[in-house]
Amino acid sequence: MKKLRLNSLKEYSIFLWLVLIALLLISSAIIYQNTKVDQSLKIKSAIGNIYLKKIFKEITNNLEPRYTTFNYVSKAGDTHQSIINNLDIEESERKILLNSILREKSLKVLRINQKFTFKFDNLSDQKIIEFKIQTDKKNELLFYKPLGKIDFMTKKVTKNFTKNIVYKETVITTSLYDSAINLGIKPNIIIEFARLYGFQVDFQRDVWKNDSFQIIYEEYLNEDKKVVDTGEIIFANLNLQNNDLQLYKYEYEKDKIDYFDENGKSIKKTLMKTPINGARLSSPYGNRKHPILGYTKMHTGTDFAAPTGTPIMASGDGKVTKAGWCGGGGNCVKIKHNNTYQTVYAHMSKFGRGIKKGVRVKQGQVIGYVGSTGLSTGPHLHYEVIENGRKINSQKLKLPSGKILKGDERKNFEVAKIKIDVLKSNLISKIN
Ligand SMILES: [Zn+2]
Repeated sequence: MKKLRLNSLKEYSIFLWLVLIALLLISSAIIYQNTKVDQSLKIKSAIGNIYLKKIFKEITNNLEPRYTTFNYVSKAGDTHQSIINNLDIEESERKILLNSILREKSLKVLRINQKFTFKFDNLSDQKIIEFKIQTDKKNELLFYKPLGKIDFMTKKVTKNFTKNIVYKETVITTSLYDSAINLGIKPNIIIEFARLYGFQVDFQRDVWKNDSFQIIYEEYLNEDKKVVDTGEIIFANLNLQNNDLQLYKYEYEKDKIDYFDENGKSIKKTLMKTPINGARLSSPYGNRKHPILGYTKMHTGTDFAAPTGTPIMASGDGKVTKAGWCGGGGNCVKIKHNNTYQTVYAHMSKFGRGIKKGVRVKQGQVIGYVGSTGLSTGPHLHYEVIENGRKINSQKLKLPSGKILKGDERKNFEVAKIKIDVLKSNLISKIN
């Protein structure tokens, strides 16, 4: 019995030893863990050490410049907040920036294509040292920090632009648009050129290969002589199959500008021959009859092959008499201009904003977009002109001009015209 008890005591002590060893192992593991945490804390604090920080900064300083700029151009859907949220800065600094912007009344509305420039000081905690927001082509608002201040102050800055008068001429080889782009003419000038000629020219059929054009327009240059904006067209001549179609810019009343031909007739007409912007349309050379055709026997309109989504304009002032489904014509719009004329626009992909029956529209207003709805083999605008209830060929349409300069107005126009002609020969002599 005693022996038995001894035996069990021995077994018990082994168990005690085992517990002791286990405790030792656990505690040593804990101590090791703690020193590890301790060490990493020490490393961290060392990194946080201001002197070491400076060394790191100096190292990065050698890799990256101290001052960097970030440019941004606002897009649809942006807000001042969303633009600032994209900056790699602290939340508190974001708030300061946003508040400074919101204080400015001129920045209440964020427009598309507004330019933002942020200047970073990468060595400072408050990173943005100044920023600029463009308010229009010539002006911007500068936000700067007076020394030692946290809040920004603002200053309006007017850019030093110079106006330049440009003369360009070329023979049209591929399309008007491509030929003009190849000359370095900015797209908005080409679009305006096409809009002005859209009253008298059918851009899909009237412009042939080897036709030519001349143009005088204004452009604005910045200090680096870079074109930053374009102004107005002063003169243009579109030579189609050896016929000159000239237009002169003329201010017939204070701040009222229009374009007139050499006889003082306004180029504006009741209806347009090309009711979409003709800039990008190219003539089907060789086959000038019809770019699409072949899907209807009773073709009584004019077709303009253009990419889906190209805006379609009301060819003249009038009242919408239909904006809906026209069977073979797909989505179509019908406009009554006066007692004589009506126009129809077919195969639209969608209607313009607010375009419905009974609405009054202005000439040039977007009434819909090119598509291929209804009986159509590809995206195009089918355009019809109805004269006294009869469909007529829009290409043969000869409408009187809106305004004809007479009397003193005509005399003044003749003077303005001579001045432009002199300017033109001066500009031509410079390039030759
Ligand atoms: Zn058609």
